[in-house]
Amino acid sequence: MTDLTGEAALIDQHCHGVVTTDLDRLAFEALLTEATRATPDRSRFDSMLGLAVRRWCAPVLGLPAHVGPDEYLERRAALGWWEASARLLRAAGVTDWLVDAGFAPVALTGLPEVADLAGGTAHEIVRLETVAERVAGLAGSAEEFAADLETELHRAAAGAVGLKSVAAYRGGLDLPARPPSAAALSAAVGRWFAVGGRLTDPLVVGWLVHLGVRVGAEFGLPLQLHTGFGDDDLRLHHADPSLLTDFLAATRDSGVTVVLLHCWPFHRQAAYLAHVFGHVVVDVGLAVPHVGARSGAVLAELLELAPFGAVCFSSDGYGLPELHYLGAWLWRRELGRLLDAWIADDVLTCADAERLVAAVARDNALRTYSRVSE
Ligand SMILES: [Zn+2]
Repeated sequence: MTDLTGEAALIDQHCHGVVTTDLDRLAFEALLTEATRATPDRSRFDSMLGLAVRRWCAPVLGLPAHVGPDEYLERRAALGWWEASARLLRAAGVTDWLVDAGFAPVALTGLPEVADLAGGTAHEIVRLETVAERVAGLAGSAEEFAADLETELHRAAAGAVGLKSVAAYRGGLDLPARPPSAAALSAAVGRWFAVGGRLTDPLVVGWLVHLGVRVGAEFGLPLQLHTGFGDDDLRLHHADPSLLTDFLAATRDSGVTVVLLHCWPFHRQAAYLAHVFGHVVVDVGLAVPHVGARSGAVLAELLELAPFGAVCFSSDGYGLPELHYLGAWLWRRELGRLLDAWIADDVLTCADAERLVAAVARDNALRTYSRVSE
């Protein structure tokens, strides 16, 4: 058995901060799931993710593997959230964290604290919808909104390493190949302003994503798109990345790299898109910690068709540093086991496997996010 992945220094291309308080069992379990409603008769520890926490996070906190949930949480509380988070984040072996700070229904660490806790560098990803909604709150008219948003996005892009859209949550990924006309946009923004609330109008969202493409091309920033599963605010069938086909065909010469995040259970569709479109990059973040010991199967399916130069690593850790750690650890364990099996089967050489690991661990991310190495 070789150790192809154990020492790989990772770039986590998509994650969030961690919670800044000690968590009781209820609060911990609420972050151990994508469900937003409590299910008192169904412990979240009774899942692949729960097993993974007990098996692989427990030793990082100085406990035996497989300890029960209560014992795990007692130890976590005794260490305190800061120390427990620092241990888990540092054990992930990540040098650069690309943080989406645009979604925080609970208080999470910002970029400086992530860097402090983890001992790496934190970089900002700007979420388009968050900026749009902030600007909308201040704009007097549809015309003012479009102009102000463009200015604000330029300002935000100047300090970021990438842009991100959650269009999948805001009407779905069936994005138009071209942005709408100014008149159509103005009418749609007027309708949105009349109702208020968050941005869900598909025409405005489509325009916003195309604005992201334009600004991304100008600043050399990639555009990340949430695809596949997520919390229950999502309609999963609207988050199938193959819905993006026309949009991707239309943007292939835009100069922007489009990053398909998460993708599960559509990671095979995403792999196909990366196969046919040279500006598409994919990951299976979020899925890896959630499917736990089954993540080798997901990684194998992603690699069936995705070019090795189009796959990046991410954890999509959110709230619990356990998710950041498991994203990295399970990636190391399962990709390592997969490649060992392929070497044993004479599918590839050790040198080929080493190049694949280096590509997915960081080389592809450095090419995608050119500002990370600046
Ligand atoms: Zn995320």
